[in-house]
Amino acid sequence: MNAKEILARARQENRAVLTEIEAKQLLMQSGINCTDTRLATTKDAAVKLSEQLGYPVVLKVSSVDITHKSDAGGVKVNLKSKAEVENAFDAIMRSCKAAMPTARIEGVSVQGMAKSGIEVIMGMIKDSSFGPVIMFGLGGVFVEVLQDVAFRIVPIEKSDAEDMINEIKGKKLLEGYRGQEPADVACLQQMLLKLSDFVNTTPEIEEIDMNPVFAYKDGAVVVDARVVLSTA
Ligand code: ADP
Ligand code: MG
Repeated sequence: MNAKEILARARQENRAVLTEIEAKQLLMQSGINCTDTRLATTKDAAVKLSEQLGYPVVLKVSSVDITHKSDAGGVKVNLKSKAEVENAFDAIMRSCKAAMPTARIEGVSVQGMAKSGIEVIMGMIKDSSFGPVIMFGLGGVFVEVLQDVAFRIVPIEKSDAEDMINEIKGKKLLEGYRGQEPADVACLQQMLLKLSDFVNTTPEIEEIDMNPVFAYKDGAVVVDARVVLSTA
């Protein structure tokens, strides 16, 4: 489905929140690299997709009602066999139903296990006076506890993308820390520019959250994405 169709379907179903699969499709169409993520509505389909993608894989609950998938027991990573996928499918269904009995669950998403990298986040929120604002930060504790994030008003230029990455306090972590490989900063800048373009040309989006993005020595990939449409 193209971007227009994805947005139209959500509207038709009266949904403001896109699934991870839809969110990644939109981002991919804007040139932002995401893990190839597909929907399986049954356990057998999850196994079939896992075999197509190749092990190890990740299974996640697919539900527009579940925002924090891991909190609901809805994420199982590094699954290496048919049996592990089957067990993960059952475990995800069991714990998500227990955690959120009224959630509409369409199945699970299946994606390849991305190799670990430096975790960063990117996103967009709409500010009541400035309009769409792009966000960049390091992942995990850095954003949650230290609030180490940079913001810029859309549209941004290359120099803004550079500045955003330069101004975060934990920037050293991107330069290769304690033997860790450095992050491909040029690629992260490009992703911010593509995000800005996408936001600028898609005014019906209220919020984007790419958390985490894994940054590597060469390239980067979005492993989780959430998109919320405006309801106005
Ligand atoms: P949540 O809704 O809880 O944010 P995520 O999709 O972000 O769920 O998954 C939780 C964690 O699982 C991520 O922060 C990441 O560390 C790991 N993870 C998710 N998808 C992948 C993947 N494709 N490859 C490797 N790790 C992943
Ligand atoms: Mg996440």
